[in-house]
Amino acid sequence: MRKPFVVANWKMHKNVAESVAFINQIKDQLPAKEEVEVGIAGTTLALHAMAAAADQTDIQIVAQNAFTEFEGAYTGEISPKALADSGVDYVLLGHIERRTMFNENNTMVNKKVVATLQAGMTPIICTDETMMQEEHGGSIHYVFAQLKDVLCDVSFDQIKNIIISYEPSWAVGAGQFANPLLAEEGCRQIRQTIADRYSYEVADKIRILYGGSVNPDNIAELMSKRDIDGVLIGRASLDADNFVSMVKTVQ
Ligand code: PEP
Repeated sequence: MRKPFVVANWKMHKNVAESVAFINQIKDQLPAKEEVEVGIAGTTLALHAMAAAADQTDIQIVAQNAFTEFEGAYTGEISPKALADSGVDYVLLGHIERRTMFNENNTMVNKKVVATLQAGMTPIICTDETMMQEEHGGSIHYVFAQLKDVLCDVSFDQIKNIIISYEPSWAVGAGQFANPLLAEEGCRQIRQTIADRYSYEVADKIRILYGGSVNPDNIAELMSKRDIDGVLIGRASLDADNFVSMVKTVQ
């Protein structure tokens, strides 16, 4: 049984005080951790204070990025070890905004995945796969070039500690309706890719999230799909009441 996971991605929003206030506001309103896991990806500067505020709660702290190395002459980079020391549990990696605005490629994301695992945190790998319509029959076929490259040297043991988030570029930050059937098909084919590369047992256990214009109106339908184990929510997660109501929908 895969536990549902709802992750807020605040991107570059909220200062330290606002981030802590959000956690204090929602912490007593969330469903039991046995029902649904909740994570919040705040800005890097806020993570330490967020972790302190979330101590004694079941809220998971998520970073939005981490570098490939633990320390060294890498001006401006974020050490995975420092994140782990700050109480971070999960790290978003390979987000479409990092790929398009900061030129992150599959090789770099792969190294970040390995470093994040070595630091003892769980990567949430974002993947935006190309969708192709088959000529006959009209069925949808995805090309998993990104995922295969990013997981190239990730071992059988390591894959068990990874979460994948299917984030089609047409839906992230776009306000476009997140079509639940396309979202489900993308997640199902990602699971099949994991089964082919590793095993059916692993594929059955791994959690696959969907991200892209999730909101209070579409979350229930998305979460009713068999292969969607959770959601990554950007804009709609910034308001605490909105966020709590979406988490409760998943319960
Ligand atoms: C995201 O940033 O991962 C995301 C899914 O954004 P939004 O929900 O705003 O589309």
